[in-house]
Amino acid sequence: MAETVSVTMDDVFREVEKYIQRPESIALIRRAAEYAEKKHEGQMRKSGEPYFSHAVNVAYILAELNVGPSTIAAGFLHDVIEDTDVTKEELEKEFDPEIAELVEAVTKIGALKFHSKDDPEYQAANHRKLFIAMARDVRVILIKLADRLHNMRTLQYQPPEKQKRIAAETLDVYAPIAHRLGISAIKNELEDLSFYYLDREEYYRIAHLVDTKKAERDEYIRQMISDISDLLTEHGIEFRIFGRSKHLYSIYHKMVDRHKRFDEILDLLAIRIVTKTELNCYEILGYIHAAYRPIPGRLKDYIAVPKTNMYQSLHTTIIGDAGKIFEVQIRTEEMDEIAERGVAAHWRYKEGSKYDARVEQKEIEERLSWFRDFAAFTGENENTSASEYMETLQRDVFEANVYAMTPKGRVIDLPNGATPIDFAYRVHTDVGHTAVGAIVNDAMVPLNTELHTGDVVQIKTMKNTGPSEDWLKFVKTNQAKSKIKAYLARKETERKAEKVPAGEKMLADELRKRGFDPSEYTDKKHLDGIYSHFNVANSTDLYYGIAVRTINVTSVCEKLTNQKRPVNDETLAAFINRGEKKRIPSRIGVYVPGIESMKMSLGQCCLPVYGDDIVGYVTKGEGVKVHRRDCPNMAKMQQRLIDVRWEEEDNERMYDTNISVLSHDRSFLLTDIVTAVSQSKAPMLKVSAAVNQETLTTTIRIKLQIHDLEQLHILIANLRKVDSVIDVIRESN
Ligand code: MN
Repeated sequence: MAETVSVTMDDVFREVEKYIQRPESIALIRRAAEYAEKKHEGQMRKSGEPYFSHAVNVAYILAELNVGPSTIAAGFLHDVIEDTDVTKEELEKEFDPEIAELVEAVTKIGALKFHSKDDPEYQAANHRKLFIAMARDVRVILIKLADRLHNMRTLQYQPPEKQKRIAAETLDVYAPIAHRLGISAIKNELEDLSFYYLDREEYYRIAHLVDTKKAERDEYIRQMISDISDLLTEHGIEFRIFGRSKHLYSIYHKMVDRHKRFDEILDLLAIRIVTKTELNCYEILGYIHAAYRPIPGRLKDYIAVPKTNMYQSLHTTIIGDAGKIFEVQIRTEEMDEIAERGVAAHWRYKEGSKYDARVEQKEIEERLSWFRDFAAFTGENENTSASEYMETLQRDVFEANVYAMTPKGRVIDLPNGATPIDFAYRVHTDVGHTAVGAIVNDAMVPLNTELHTGDVVQIKTMKNTGPSEDWLKFVKTNQAKSKIKAYLARKETERKAEKVPAGEKMLADELRKRGFDPSEYTDKKHLDGIYSHFNVANSTDLYYGIAVRTINVTSVCEKLTNQKRPVNDETLAAFINRGEKKRIPSRIGVYVPGIESMKMSLGQCCLPVYGDDIVGYVTKGEGVKVHRRDCPNMAKMQQRLIDVRWEEEDNERMYDTNISVLSHDRSFLLTDIVTAVSQSKAPMLKVSAAVNQETLTTTIRIKLQIHDLEQLHILIANLRKVDSVIDVIRESN
């Protein structure tokens, strides 16, 4: 562990004056420093240093992040409320409300415990307060991160137990926040320090392993840097190039998390190239890929698609000499800044520009997409894991900037665009589930009304009602979304379960009809064997499918018993005869525009059905014959063609049509085909089958009646699904 050197006031001002020159700003910072020094006078840290040195170091870290004068002043003052007799009011008088508020907010966060023995709800509530503070003013978190970083750097003076507690909290709460804000310089240092205190043995083991091969790795990197430098110089590009080392915790994390071996991680040699423009980045990538073989799939363009913490860079992995693998990052100076200092770099204080904390906060919300658009919440049932719960909490809280109230004055924080339903689920799950109406500021409003800060919301509930699927279209919080989805999923299961007995009975009946004993064929072993065939997960889904007829009970019987029903000629005849009986002679349903009545008939060559693209042919003496426009007989006709149209659709009207089914020959094929046709409710007029002994295929021709083209297409699609069928076509006569 490297010893960290404590900085002095002079160091702070040297750092500050690099970007702040205005006398009144410098004076403000100096006044805050002197005030804090006086207030902490006599207090000592465990290190034996005066307490004030902590404040100096925190201010220094903030200055390194180039934050504004008020934030640095608040950095000097951050512990005066907590550790001295100074009050917020006094700070307001001495400085200004802005600084007083920053210090107060930092003090409040300092009081939160994230690793107490209390219940998870309590801890979650504390996380929540932290996130709310961040959502309100990111400067509070920057001060808190600087404070935590210095405390971590000086943790050796604390008793071992406290070291572990603080380190765990840092790793769980503060390092992730630094990461989210893109401040990787602080994140990495916090992680390595925490790692050291939490698992010293492992820390030293990895540090040692990194050391052993360091000379060798450095040599490879030196060589590669020299080669790439030559390459880029040749092309006249301005650049900086350097090797970089991974921090120990990230090595450890990759080993544990991705189950990688040590050498797999350490063998990766890492190089970074920093250049002037975005275009240069792509140019450099091009030259490198032309000179070295890139590993496929490893190119990441975070310039075009920045990470949610604004990180931008090109990443590629190439194979260098001697087969060594190099990770190369290419980025501009500005991107490099943002990669190191994230939010702080992007909104770094610029003297002379009009600074407005609220505008900055709004910009941050817009720029850091996770502020409002946290990863979609996937847990869809009530018993989500703690981590999922936290995710939801984070999302819903980060976004919170609408504060609505219950009639009793309880404040409910909601994201922008939230509705009374979001509000209801925040109050209580049952209130959400049974919500039927909302009264906002004494007026009844629709449930999808957008709420605003200050709205007083009263939810009307009714017993035995449930959420509607439509609510999912307008709710904004993950909490509401996941609760609604969980409820609907549960209802769906219940609904399915109700149909199970019917499906069970249908299957048993069908088995008995075929002479099988249902109890023998519907045991677990038999059923388990057929689920995948019918695309279901369990017996509930199978029986439900049978009951609602999305699964064919005949097919289930056949699968279960491994037998097909023998052809029954009588059944077949019955199907066909049924068709004959239903035949309805009717007008053909076609007219010639502008002509009242005309003798018309359908062409028997192509047999048009309702919906076909049609054309009329004026015959000599037989009126108009209606053909499909693509009828081969019409192709050569140039004259005597006339425009014809279908009349309004009429459910009674039926059209003859022919289809032909080509299939591999097998037993009971005809039965299955006839069954499929009859299920489509298309009466059959004639069926014939011919087997081709050479190809072992069967062609079945069916003449049937159909309402329209759509029904025909559905029928053809269904026939294509029958086992062994190769093709189904509509035929001419
Ligand atoms: Mn402190």
